[in-house]
Amino acid sequence: MNKSSANFSLIDFETNSVLAETQWIADRGGVVQYESVRGCPFRCEFCDYPYLMGNKTFRMKSADQIFEDWRELYERGARHVDALDSLFTVPKKRATRLAELLISSGLAQGLTGACYARATELADAEFVSLLQRAGCRYVFLGIESGSQLILNNMRKVTKVADNAKAIRNCNSVGLYASSGILVGFPGETEETIAETKAFLGEQSSPSVHVFVWIPDFTEGTPVPIMQEDRVARFGIRGKGSQGAYTKVVWGKSVDFHLRTEWSHSWMTQERALEHALDIGRLARAGHIWGEDFSFAPYRTMLKHPSILAARMAYEHQAEFAIGMKYAYDAYIRGSPIAQVVQRTEACMSKAQLELLV
Ligand code: SF4
Repeated sequence: MNKSSANFSLIDFETNSVLAETQWIADRGGVVQYESVRGCPFRCEFCDYPYLMGNKTFRMKSADQIFEDWRELYERGARHVDALDSLFTVPKKRATRLAELLISSGLAQGLTGACYARATELADAEFVSLLQRAGCRYVFLGIESGSQLILNNMRKVTKVADNAKAIRNCNSVGLYASSGILVGFPGETEETIAETKAFLGEQSSPSVHVFVWIPDFTEGTPVPIMQEDRVARFGIRGKGSQGAYTKVVWGKSVDFHLRTEWSHSWMTQERALEHALDIGRLARAGHIWGEDFSFAPYRTMLKHPSILAARMAYEHQAEFAIGMKYAYDAYIRGSPIAQVVQRTEACMSKAQLELLV
């Protein structure tokens, strides 16, 4: 079977773990990526994750299996595990059991971790404290919006109040939480954006990572918001070709190339981009506690006073992503800054990355 015809849904994912080899781990400074679920139990309107890998059911490894895998990875030299999963903290019962195993075995003393999470689980202060004690050092929180109307439109199944609680809980135990914000989703207006800015202004998320909504115009896409009824209801229009804009960011003219060109009944893509940049500007000016709209660790590590932004050709996104990933992993592990910068820049050299001052 060649790679393109491989049917990933046939892999017995739940019981088979293919673990990184010792040399591979050593080459990456003890940082490994780990997959513990496939699919997602949620169906957020903007997201294609639940439909990837040819099988729409949510599948997962047990807490005991993950623990055994991580113990083996530790033996092979791993010191930080980056959970790539859509959501590592769902189901909460599994995450709780794993955290208890990591703590009681002592593995939490030598192995740190990072993951994606939802506020619904992290609104529980005890659970957040448990994660922190189990070695979790970073969570990317899908906050998305400060407007309940937009969260409802997204079918995010979270409350603004839970999002706020989750950020506070992470801050109180020193678990670094980066807030993901999605700007421009159907229904977004000047008022809902103002709610998001106010939300960010009130919360103390250490970093804010802002995305402009990118609709999937591919025919037959499973993404819920692009189904016929929603497209009609929200007046979604557009195409999949690039939308190119030049904007002034902190005094410099920057070209942005977005994958789409869209509008809906309330907003255009260009306006959404302006708001995303504005959130970055507010963060920089200190009105929103947070550092910028990139992961703060990257920025801190690269000793750069501004955003890591986006004048990059699309064919080089992979290199960009690898570079960012390396930078983040190494930062979390506390690698010497010079080494991190050197390795990261090497990864990114093809990405035509422009660092904005
Ligand atoms: S945004 Fe996150 S929680 Fe929602 S469907 Fe996608 S992966 Fe699942």
